[in-house]
Parts: sequence; structure tokens; C-alpha cells
Amino acid sequence: MHAEAQTHTASAGAASAASEASQGAQLIDGTAIGRLVRRDVAEAVERLKARGITPGLSVVLVGDDPASAVYVRSKGKACEEAGMRGETIRLPADTSEDALLAQVDRLNADPNVHGILVQMPLPRHMSADKVIRRILPEKDVDGFHPVNVGKLSIGERDGFVPCTPAGAIELLVRSGVDTRGKDAVIVGRSNIVGKPMAALLMQDAPGGNATVTVCHSRTTNLAGHIRRADIVVAAIGKPEMITGDMIKPGAVVVDVGINRVNDASVPKGYRIVGDVHFASAREVASLITPVPGGVGPMTIAMLMKNTVRAAAQIAGV
Ligand code: NDP
Repeated sequence: MHAEAQTHTASAGAASAASEASQGAQLIDGTAIGRLVRRDVAEAVERLKARGITPGLSVVLVGDDPASAVYVRSKGKACEEAGMRGETIRLPADTSEDALLAQVDRLNADPNVHGILVQMPLPRHMSADKVIRRILPEKDVDGFHPVNVGKLSIGERDGFVPCTPAGAIELLVRSGVDTRGKDAVIVGRSNIVGKPMAALLMQDAPGGNATVTVCHSRTTNLAGHIRRADIVVAAIGKPEMITGDMIKPGAVVVDVGINRVNDASVPKGYRIVGDVHFASAREVASLITPVPGGVGPMTIAMLMKNTVRAAAQIAGV
């Protein structure tokens, strides 16, 4: 297990090279590390194809939310680049819940489909829980089905872990961060990020074995918790909420946040920032993920990785 962690560490150059010459924390370069994951995925796809299996991911998009459409396009492109079969099923916003469930049933039964992802959020007349539960757990590459959530919780390795926290852990492992015995503080307890991140950091595996605290909007003395953390994970959805004065010198900072803030000084009129105030945090941290270019690029890379594993597991190879 630890040998695996060390192997990953060997490729960690990408994590830090970009910032060696500059002041403060080194950057964890999610774009470079995501590329390494995708290269590994493409190799795994080749191996599966040699055995007659082409991994396939089907993404279902209901409605025309522009942000969702962008995510779905990136997923399709990533499938193509990795040599996988990618399919996007677009359904109108007024599709009935029954029709969506029937579509999921069809994909569940299709032997060429190994991964199914229904893009969230769904229109209000549909129950996301119901749809997620309808996807076969072995094709649930988003890792949201209760069976996969349970497997993560009890440490069973054949389930699927949600892609964003899985990507954050991959960044830590590939950057050579030893999480064992460290105090990790996660801010945010969503089912998509905070809770699975806590499960991963506490499990007995590479990137785990930390002592984990999960904070949320009812936490008292949030800054006090963050200040004693060796590893801080921000998954809040509040622009630049965690500032450098809250961070212990030398801590590792993983910023999951993606927030759009108005900025009249740039042509687009806005910029993307994380949940951490990057400039002040960088002065005290030892390693930090930038936004954009940190956790963000890992999500799709991990989705590809999950889909390849789904294909191998379904085929029994
Ligand atoms: P949610 O809104 O589902 O959860 C936010 C969490 O932050 C909640 O647990 C909430 O607490 C907590 N919180 C809110 N305000 C405070 C506060 N003032 N103090 C302490 N805790 C607080 O968000 P997500 O988990 O879905 O996403 C978090 C961030 O990560 C967002 O910026 C999102 O855009 C980004 N994200 C990025 C992804 C990527 O990189 N690909 C993917 C998914 C998300 P409570 O539970 O008490 O309400």
C-alpha cells in the first residue's frame, strides 16, 4: 500500500515545479496531475480494448442549463481523448421523471455502457434521489448511489468514490503529502464533497489515516479548528472565506471551491476564485491548490478513471 503511495510521489514534480522560483507555498498543479491521470486512463483503455472491451460512459443531460452543458461537453471530449466511447443523451427540461427513469433502465441494461452519469441539478419536478438510486451501483461512476456511499464508509474498495474528493486525494498522494497521523480539517459537509472527503482522509489507505474534523455552518470557532489543521480542505461555496491568518504555518491547503465574483477590471467582467483567499493563504501554507487549476481539472480525470474501472469490473478482468 505504501509502496503505491511512494510510486505516486515519484511523479510529483508536476505538483511543485511551477512555483519553485516564487515565494510562499508551492502550487499543487491539478492541470498537470490531471493530465497524468488521464494518460494512465488512456493506457488502461488500450489494455481493455486489446481484450475486446471499449469502456463506455453515457451522460444524461436534462434541460438546457448552460453550466451543465459545459460540464457535459468536457466529459464527452475527455472520453474521446482517452479512447473511450462517450455518449451524451439530451432530454428536454419537461421530460417526465418516468421517462428519465426509463432512460436509466435502458442504460443499465446496455452491455456497451459501463458508466452512467445523470448531470445534476435536475429540473425541480424530478427527484434526484430517485434517479440516483435507479442507476445500477456497478455503473454509478459518480459514486452517489447509497451502495457506493456505504462501501466507501466501510472501506470496501470495489465501490465508486465521488470524483471531486477522489481527485483531491489523488492530488495529495501524487504531491507526496503524507496524510498519516495528520490533523485534517474539512470545511463543508455535502454528500458530494465534504462527507466523502472525510471518509477518504480517515480510511486506512494511501491518502488516508488522518485525524479528521468536519466543520459546517453551525460550527463554533471555525477559525480555531482551521488554525490547528495540518491539512485544510475548503468545500464551502463562499468566495475567499478562509484567509491566511486562519492557517497554520506549513499547512497543506486544498481548495475545492469554485466561485464566480464580479471583476470589472477583466474583459469577462468576472473571475473565478476558491473558498480560500489564495494570496494570503499562500504566504503561510507549504502547499496549496490554486483556483482555477487545482481540484477542478481532477474531477473529470477521476470520472474517466472510475469508468475504466467499471468496465473492467463488469467484464470481470
Ligand atoms: P454545498 O453548498 O452543498 O455545501 C457547502 C457546505 O459548506 C455545507 O456543508 C455548509 O454547511 C458549509 N458552509 C456554508 N457556509 C459556511 C460557513 N460560513 N462556515 C462553515 N461552513 C459553511 O456545496 P458543495 O459541497 O457542493 O460545494 C462546495 C464548493 O465546491 C462550491 O464552491 C462548489 O462550486 C465547489 N465544487 C467544485 C467541484 C469541482 O472542483 N469540480 C465539484 C463540486 C463542488 P451546512 O451543511 O451547515 O449548510
